[in-house]
Amino acid sequence: MNESAIIPRFGPATITADDPRYESLLRGTNHRFVAKPDRVCVVTSTEQVVTVVGDAVARGLRVTVRSGGHGFEGFFAAEGGVLLDLSEMTDVSFDPSRAAFAIEPGATLGHVYRVLFKGWNVTIPGGECTEVGVGGHFAGGGYGPLSRRLGAVVDYLYAVEVVVVDADGVARAVVATREPDDPHRDLWWAHTGGGGGNFGVVTRYWVRSPGVTSADPAELLPKAPSRWRVAFCMWPWESMTEESFTTLLRNVGTWFERNSAPGAPHAQHSASFYASHRSGGALLLQAMIDDEIPDAGALLDAYFDAVSEGVGVESSRTQVVRPWLYFAAYPNWGDPGTQDIRRIKIKAAYLRKGYTERQLATIWQHLTGEHGVQNQLILIGYGGQVNTVPPDATATAQRDSVLKAAYMAVWGDEAEDHTHITRLREFYRDVYADTGGVPVPGEVSDGSYINYPDVDLADPTWNASGVPWSTLYYKDNYPRLQQVKQRYDPGDEFRHGLSIELP
Ligand SMILES: Cc1cc2nc3c(=O)[nH]c(=O)nc-3n(C[C@H](O)[C@H](O)[C@H](O)COP(=O)(O)OP(=O)(O)OC[C@H]3O[C@@H](n4cnc5c(N)ncnc54)[C@H](O)[C@@H]3O)c2cc1C
Repeated sequence: MNESAIIPRFGPATITADDPRYESLLRGTNHRFVAKPDRVCVVTSTEQVVTVVGDAVARGLRVTVRSGGHGFEGFFAAEGGVLLDLSEMTDVSFDPSRAAFAIEPGATLGHVYRVLFKGWNVTIPGGECTEVGVGGHFAGGGYGPLSRRLGAVVDYLYAVEVVVVDADGVARAVVATREPDDPHRDLWWAHTGGGGGNFGVVTRYWVRSPGVTSADPAELLPKAPSRWRVAFCMWPWESMTEESFTTLLRNVGTWFERNSAPGAPHAQHSASFYASHRSGGALLLQAMIDDEIPDAGALLDAYFDAVSEGVGVESSRTQVVRPWLYFAAYPNWGDPGTQDIRRIKIKAAYLRKGYTERQLATIWQHLTGEHGVQNQLILIGYGGQVNTVPPDATATAQRDSVLKAAYMAVWGDEAEDHTHITRLREFYRDVYADTGGVPVPGEVSDGSYINYPDVDLADPTWNASGVPWSTLYYKDNYPRLQQVKQRYDPGDEFRHGLSIELP
C-alpha cells in the first residue's frame, strides 16, 4: 500500500463545552451518570496519553479515564478536569517481540473476540457482553462463559503498559510484565484484578497463556470454540410457590457446590440462573458449551435435570447450536435495557456455596413482593479453572467461589431512580442481614467483584458489618495494592468512589 494512503491516527482531539461534539461524549452505558469535564480529550496513542496527563497534572486538573464506558458506577463522570477518552484505541494485534497479543484499552470484547478468532482461531475467557471495553474489564479481573473451563481473563495477562505520574508530577509510560525478575512486576500484578482508574492509564495489555512458549501465535492462547451450544430451561413465575421457588434456588446452589471443581465434567460449560421479579414472567437457566466437547448436549441436559429435581413445576427447554462467533461477537449481546436511556444499579457477591435457608426465604420475599419490581437476581457460574490459581498470585483474591451473584435493577426514567435504587439496596441488605447487610467473607459468601462496583459498600448506612469495602473486594490483597498505589500514583491523581487508598 502507498504510505501516503494510510490514514494517520488523529488526536488528541480536545473537546470543550462549546464544541458540538461535547454532549455526545459525556455518558457511558449507565445513563445515571453524566460527566461534566472542562474538556474531553480523545486520544489515539500512548504518547498522546503521556502528553495529556502530564499537562493536566501540571495545571492541577483531575484526570478521569473511560475506555468502553461500561462501568456500572460511572467513575469517569467527574465535575471539571479532563476526561480522557480511550475508546478509539482499539488495535488488536500479535506482538512478536513479546510473543503475546497486544490489545488496546478501547477495544470492545466483541472486537477482541472477532480479531483473535479470524486471525488465529484463539480466544480469551472474557465477558459475555460484547460492548464492554477491555480498559476496565481486564484491570478488574474479567470473566465470562469460558471461565469455568479456562479461568479468569487476568490469568492470561502477560503485560500491561500504564501511563503513571511520578511524585514530581511527570507522566511516563511503564511496561510491567509477569516475568519474575521484572522490576515493575507489582504494577502488572495490580492490574490482575485491582480494578480500573487506580494506578494510571492503561494504554495496552498483552495476553498469552501462562507457561506457554511457542513461536506460533495460534498456540499462545486457548483455541476458540468453533460451534457453540446454547441451552435454556424456563419456568413460568406464576406457577411457582415459595416451596417450588426455594427448591429451585437451593438446587442451583447445591449443583454448583458439586460441579465446580477444576476439570470436572460440568466445569467445561457455563451455567447461570436468571430470576426477574415475579412480574417479569419467567425464571431461566442458561448454559453454553463448546459443541466439540463429547456429549455436549447431554451435559447441559444433566445440569437442567439436576436443578429441576423436586421443583414440581413444568419447565420448557431449548438447545440451539450456532457458529461460535455468531454468539461471542453478536452486537450488544448481553447489554440490558434500552441502550439510549438505561439506568442501572448493580450490587454483587461471590458465593462459596448455595444460599442459606434464611437467604432463600428472603429472596423469595423480595422477588414476589409488591415493591421492587425492577429487582432481578442473576447467579453466574464461576469456579472450575478459576479456582486453580492461588488467591495472592493475582489481585483477584476470590479463588474458591462457585458462583457470582449480581443483584440488578434496570429502568429508563430518571424520576424513578430513588425508588429502584432503594428497593435494590433493601433486597441486598436483607439477603446479607446476618453479616451487616453485605457479603462478608465466610462460609457462604466471599465478598464482591470490583468490576460490579457498588459505592454502597463504602457507606455505613448500607454496610453495617464493620468490614471495610476494600476487604470485601480485595481481601488480603488490599495492603499490597496500596503499596503499588504508593509507588506508582503517590499523588493520588487517579481516584474515584472506590479507588485504592494510599497506605
Ligand atoms: C452490560 C454489562 C455486561 C457486563 N458483563 C460482564 C461480564 O460478562 N464479565 C465481567 O467480568 N464483567 C462484565 N461487566 C463489567 C465490566 O467488566 C466492567 O464494567 C468494566 O470495568 C467495564 O470496562 P469499560 O472499559 O467498558 O468501562 P469504563 O466505564 O470505561 O471503565 C470502568 C472503570 O475502569 C477504568 N478504566 C477504563 N479504562 C481504563 C484505562 N485504560 N486505564 C485505567 N483505568 C481505566 C475507569 O476509570 C473506570 O473506573 C459488564 C458490564 C456491563 C455494563
